[in-house]
Amino acid sequence: MSLLIYAESAEGKFKKVAFELASYAKKVAESLGTTVTAVTINAGDVSDLSKYGVDKVLKVNNDALTGFSARAYADVIKQAAQKEGAKVVVLSSTTDSIYLSSLVAISLDAGFTSNVVGLPVSTSPFQVKRTAFSNKAFTITEITTDIKVLGLAKNSYGIIENNVSLTEEDFNPTIDAADFNVKVTSVEKSSGKVSIADADIVVSGGRGLKGPENWGMIEELASVLGAATACSKPVSDLGWRPHGEHVGQTGKPVATNLYIAVGISGAIQHIAGINSSKVKVVINNDPEAPFFKVADYGIVGDAFEIVPQLIEKLKTF
Ligand code: FAD
Repeated sequence: MSLLIYAESAEGKFKKVAFELASYAKKVAESLGTTVTAVTINAGDVSDLSKYGVDKVLKVNNDALTGFSARAYADVIKQAAQKEGAKVVVLSSTTDSIYLSSLVAISLDAGFTSNVVGLPVSTSPFQVKRTAFSNKAFTITEITTDIKVLGLAKNSYGIIENNVSLTEEDFNPTIDAADFNVKVTSVEKSSGKVSIADADIVVSGGRGLKGPENWGMIEELASVLGAATACSKPVSDLGWRPHGEHVGQTGKPVATNLYIAVGISGAIQHIAGINSSKVKVVINNDPEAPFFKVADYGIVGDAFEIVPQLIEKLKTF
């Protein structure tokens, strides 16, 4: 019996979440006295997984699986779990993996819980901590089924190096034609920039920036830092920025190492989505702005003066 993870990749490269998942799985496996097996689908070179504690990789290379097909991918993960006799299967919380997790759980007759943060509170009974109510509360959830499926919340554990020797094995699961009744045939990226999901740093702008014509400095700051850009809800509602950049309770959750909020007041609905970020920097000209209460670093002043200075300073590093 081994603990199984699905190590997600795109265009032959592992996503950042795959390494976080591996780091997390290694610790859970140790507490269960077992090893970590990863199943990969058209992932190319899998050797990087050995840096994060994965002991064995089941490599699936199949042209039929080039586009994401939830049922087919879930079927592959199920067969990998059965082959390994996995009692615990861990997936990440990307859009694809959220979709897959419940399908995998149903097919394995397993209990499933999403938004898991931290290592299991107890392995017998099997209890995990998960977020609830838009990250404003935590619950301890017990899974009583023989097989357990967990969805690890993104950026909740971190990437921890743990070099081990890796066994690679080609795996050819049976795939049913009926699995392909819904399939993603092409993916069009909205931009070539860093995506919020993959970012370590996010620079986010609010209504304090007055209009879309002023976003050049936000993009420049993001570019200097290798960061993704984001925005508050009204900014995307007003059409100043694309909806994909809206973060908060009703937008994307952000749990980065550094979140820089420029001209954002810090309404509770915004904070709900970004509060798990490690370091929060707030730039606002109102010293009473609520965002300062949750900020690690605050700069009181005009964004139009501070951001250009910040960019110039950062360029000298
Ligand atoms: P404002 O509230 O207008 O704040 C602008 C800030 O910019 C102010 O603090 C001001 O002092 C500052 N400022 C102005 N000029 C400057 C300057 N020159 N330099 C520096 N600072 C300046 N909001 C979200 O963001 N995400 C969500 O997911 C979300 N979900 C919601 C769900 C519900 C059900 C509801 C009711 C609301 C939701 N909202 C959400 C909206 C939220 O309540 C706030 O209205 C919104 O976050 C405010 O956006 P803002 O801070 O950009 O704008």
